[in-house]
Amino acid sequence: MKTAFLSFLIPLLVPVQACLTRDEIRGGHIVDLTKGINRRQTDGNVGTIPVATGDRFQNGDKAPRGIGSQAATVLGTFNSVLNTNEIKSAIKGLEKEFRVGYFETPYKTFENRTMFGAKVGGTGKSNNGYRVLLETGIHARERGGPDHLIYFISDLLWANREKKGLNYGGVSYTYKDVQTALGMGIVVLPLVNPDGVAFDQTTNSCWRKNRNPASAISGDPHSIGIDLNRNFAPVWNFTKYLAPGIEAASTNASTETFYGTGPLSEPETKNVDWTMDRFPNLGWFMDQHSPATLVLYGWCHDSNQARDPTQNFGNMAYDGKRGVVPDEPSKGTAYKEYLDQKDWDILSLTAARIAGGMSDSTGRFYPALQAPHLYPSSGCSADHGYMKAMLDPSKKKIYGFGVEFGEWNEDAECGFYPTVEAHGKNMVENGVAYMELLLNAARLS
Ligand SMILES: [Zn+2]
Repeated sequence: MKTAFLSFLIPLLVPVQACLTRDEIRGGHIVDLTKGINRRQTDGNVGTIPVATGDRFQNGDKAPRGIGSQAATVLGTFNSVLNTNEIKSAIKGLEKEFRVGYFETPYKTFENRTMFGAKVGGTGKSNNGYRVLLETGIHARERGGPDHLIYFISDLLWANREKKGLNYGGVSYTYKDVQTALGMGIVVLPLVNPDGVAFDQTTNSCWRKNRNPASAISGDPHSIGIDLNRNFAPVWNFTKYLAPGIEAASTNASTETFYGTGPLSEPETKNVDWTMDRFPNLGWFMDQHSPATLVLYGWCHDSNQARDPTQNFGNMAYDGKRGVVPDEPSKGTAYKEYLDQKDWDILSLTAARIAGGMSDSTGRFYPALQAPHLYPSSGCSADHGYMKAMLDPSKKKIYGFGVEFGEWNEDAECGFYPTVEAHGKNMVENGVAYMELLLNAARLS
């Protein structure tokens, strides 16, 4: 009895919920940057996977190859995370080797970086042949996200050329699965927050946001940057849409969840929105985060219901009532967000299949849940494409998911930085997450 009781308590001791610590949700920070960036950050993260120096893809001359298309013995060779130059160089390498379609997005970041992506597989030559959008690297410190996406895409392309299947831990896919996955047409945005990732990689400061100083307060280095995953359009203005006290984001620039100056105020989120418009047949979206061992789907800001279409984010009668989970009818907050029943079935089924596959690959348990059952959030990426179609029926609905791969690294000052061993495990699981999304999308489209 006593053991059972204690094991029930253990999850409560984990300091991270999705990609925020419990302290950060209350406005705190892991690393106090007001004391300056110094060696302490590096010392506190000894034992975590290093950021690579140099360029293993030789400025796009060499294509990456993932673990799913090689023997499992290569796992430990993924012993550094890709630096920001390598992420671009990898895509260039895939362009040279496999003729993937490299593209750049129009809005430059505050530090004048150009975001880029790639078109992979698909059935046609035009942008109409792409149905799945995969993005990562939106939260700078969540190390490994860009690596997992790039190596997965590399696996698909290698396996397709060699007419072979893929193996990720306990989960295998056939050559036919590879063809089906590629046939969906995949658009990848592997580095959605290039300024933030560059800053985090050079300072080991556990940096999450972008680096836009537009709302910064003099003397507070934490007030630089906007949380890009609170800057998308769905119920961005949470103080209007949600019930008072529901901190789905923050209006305070000094916090980790600062929402910016307007929906899509940031070049990075504008670029994601632009990509959704550029490929009109996108119907599926996944955003890789870490490290909470979860698969999430929307809505992000309140629980779903399929009975009453008038309870929706556009109905002003419900402003100030949303976001309370569980509802408190006595306080007038009995509200759940409307979601078409068929869409809800597709979202929950696909999330469950992704989570089940990830659990099968390594034995680490991944639950699938609707995002607000963890905590409600506003302006989230996963709901953006779906909401666009609700506001403009000429657009295609995009089913959105968020994967929270891996576990908090208790031995590191920044628990978002994995060890080499954990990075390899995360890579195996993410390979399955991507395959399950693509195969279920193909089946349900
Ligand atoms: Zn995140």
